[in-house]
Amino acid sequence: RVHEMEHSLDEARRQARVKGELLATMSHGIRTTVSGVIGMADQLLKGHLPPEPRQLVEMIGQNGEALLRLVDDTLDYSRLEAGRMPVERLDFDLRVAVDHVSGVVRTLAEAKSLAFETRISALVPSRLQGDPGRLRQVLLNLGSNAVKFTERGAVNLRIDREAEDDQHVTLTFMVGDTGVGIEPAAQRTVFEPYAQADASIVRRFGGSGLGLAISKRLVEAMGGEVGVESQTGRGSTFWFRLKFEKQ
Ligand code: ADP
Repeated sequence: RVHEMEHSLDEARRQARVKGELLATMSHGIRTTVSGVIGMADQLLKGHLPPEPRQLVEMIGQNGEALLRLVDDTLDYSRLEAGRMPVERLDFDLRVAVDHVSGVVRTLAEAKSLAFETRISALVPSRLQGDPGRLRQVLLNLGSNAVKFTERGAVNLRIDREAEDDQHVTLTFMVGDTGVGIEPAAQRTVFEPYAQADASIVRRFGGSGLGLAISKRLVEAMGGEVGVESQTGRGSTFWFRLKFEKQ
């Protein structure tokens, strides 16, 4: 019995490795090829083109960029799945890390004339231990989604203290928007890979459908949990909770 189990475990590991290698080789091939296509499109755009062909060539470039993002996200996701994206534990300053993301999201929001506000409770300590890079990645994903799916109103980022003792602090991060919202049935699936709540919206905004799946994996890899509250037509609030060690 034990022997059989070990055998199938070995086999599963072997298959996972083959899958990972195939994905890595394929995505490298796709990246190189698509970069070529984008490069050619850029060359064409530098020359003289009548308006109509120019528009078509611009679309070739945009679709190429979208395909690159899809490939990168897929690779990220499969690395996370295989446990090959280790989480770091560094001393970092929470407010510095969040400032970084806020700046990017603010720029995105302003481009769409949306209000943007960051509010960090005064009770939240700044000097923490954890993985600031991963934290930024998750916040950036939620923040850019919030802007992407909001036409008017505001996007906000809030951080509250949930619990604290001598060594640890548990924080809740909330990214709220006044956008299209998500139907209750879709709220259960948006964190699954390649899940997109509304095909017509995706055609309008683009995207890989992997951002939230990656964010969920990252939050879980950091020992936290993630969720969403939303009302269709009113907006959404994506949240995650993480426990940090204090410096
Ligand atoms: P992508 O944005 O690339 O499609 P995500 O995994 O980031 O992929 O999001 C999955 C889906 O969840 C989106 O396609 C969209 O339907 C829905 N979604 C995510 N964030 C929001 C939001 N802030 N408001 C409304 N819908 C959202």
